[in-house]
Amino acid sequence: MDCIFCKIVAGTIPAKKVREDELILAFHDIEPKAPKHILVIPKKHLVSLADATAADEALLGRLLLTAGEIAREEGLGKGYRIVISTGPEGGQTVDHLHVHLLGGRQMHWPPG
Ligand code: 5GP
Ligand code: ZN
Repeated sequence: MDCIFCKIVAGTIPAKKVREDELILAFHDIEPKAPKHILVIPKKHLVSLADATAADEALLGRLLLTAGEIAREEGLGKGYRIVISTGPEGGQTVDHLHVHLLGGRQMHWPPG
């Protein structure tokens, strides 16, 4: 499958890994949009949140809990932002579900 994040999971493309377990991988975004910008992904190929089903309930919970744990470990006690770009109008550019963890600067609203 021609999926860049599946290749990172498989180890055929390098990434700066932050955390890994049997279900999840977290790594630094290659083009960080904040001083801390980490992507948390399921190892299983899931295109987007729009493709998730009730069978993915535990996995989705795990993604968010992991992002929160990493935020704590990275010292983002003053806050951070979680983003899940979904579909073309959601600005999704990589079609493998990913949670952005952004922190280390003041975030603004509305996002772009
Ligand atoms: P999206 O645009 O789908 O919300 O987020 C995709 C993110 O993946 C972008 O922030 C982009 O910088 C990041 N990205 C794309 N290709 C790679 C890559 O090969 N390695 C890493 N570490 N990040 C990538
Ligand atoms: Zn994939």
